[in-house]
Amino acid sequence: MKLQEEFEGLFGNKPDLISQAPGRVNLIGEHIDYNNGLVLPFAIDSVARCAIRVRNDSKIRLASKQITGPLIECEISRLSEKNEPLWTRYILGVLWSLKINSGIEILVDSNVPQGAGLSSSAALECSVAYVLNEAFSLGLSGKELALSAQRAENEFVGVPCGIMDQMISILGKAGHALLIDCLDLTTKLVPVKFDSNNLKLMVIDTQAHHALVDGGYAKRRAQCEQVANIFGLSSLRELSMSNLQTKSGELEQELFARARHVVSEIERVKNAESALVRDDFKAFGELLDQSHNSLRDDYGVSCPELDCAVEVARAEGALGARMIGGGFGGSAIALVKDGDTGRIASAIERGFAKNNFKTPRFFDAVASEGARLVDGSN
Ligand code: ADP
Ligand code: MG
Repeated sequence: MKLQEEFEGLFGNKPDLISQAPGRVNLIGEHIDYNNGLVLPFAIDSVARCAIRVRNDSKIRLASKQITGPLIECEISRLSEKNEPLWTRYILGVLWSLKINSGIEILVDSNVPQGAGLSSSAALECSVAYVLNEAFSLGLSGKELALSAQRAENEFVGVPCGIMDQMISILGKAGHALLIDCLDLTTKLVPVKFDSNNLKLMVIDTQAHHALVDGGYAKRRAQCEQVANIFGLSSLRELSMSNLQTKSGELEQELFARARHVVSEIERVKNAESALVRDDFKAFGELLDQSHNSLRDDYGVSCPELDCAVEVARAEGALGARMIGGGFGGSAIALVKDGDTGRIASAIERGFAKNNFKTPRFFDAVASEGARLVDGSN
């Protein structure tokens, strides 16, 4: 059924506005946003849509098409008291961070797979932020909306995510990746010409568990801060490889490796941008490979499923492959020749079956538009 009709069936009125905001893949620059470095994601064509109607009282009524159960109801003045179910916090948190003080009806519907490392959380937050900005004429810029959505996830949900996912979900442009400088949030569009060069970016969802709320992510962040402190810097963005090497004997081995990932990955992002600009996909693919090896060996955030997906894709002729997202599961990407996707997918499936992993899923990632208003007729 069309979202508009579903909304009407649920709440008895047509929605005022409907927005959509996409998930993302990050081409390169992993675990870099919270180190104030450079990242290079693009928005995908899977989106979270959000239909709303402003009420003339103070009641919030909320539902998600992906969640069964009763309609969630609460008072706008008592948002912070509402803890359960957890998914509601991704939406109520945006009302909170944008200081909305009116009642609203909200229905969300998303085809971004949850917990697959494609950022279903930012897609949801950003579609809510975008539609509220329009409905209440808040006049906030894309960057301000992204920051509000991030604040919702950090402070209202309690997930210490960086700014990358929200920035790309709001600011993505079809056919382009977005080079984001996470220090000052300046951005630059970088053309992604995979299609016209007979290449595809495959996403391999390993279906392995992916939990950002676990200690792995928070621990990595803390380790990065620790190394920055040792060098007297405000973040690892300011650390050069030669400066890091000067302390290779003194720094605990694990801390040294964590920092080496961050410093080398920021360099790879710069090189990846220039490889894309000059259509050098071989060099770009090699950078993906190096990024994965660094995430696996130095940063310690890969897992057997991700390593298997990446190794099989490479062995079957991918130009490059790497894990994306926080790690410990979720998805990998592989840059492959157009005609090779089926064969590579089958080989990965066989590899997973042999290891008794769950059956993986495959998508094509196409660089798509960021958040916008849509009509509800589909
Ligand atoms: P990722 O962002 O990588 O998909 P996260 O763990 O950050 O994974 O976010 C997933 C969480 O976001 C889900 O567990 C759920 O709470 C919330 N979420 C995402 N999409 C929806 C949806 N369509 N309806 C309700 N909650 C959703
Ligand atoms: Mg997320």
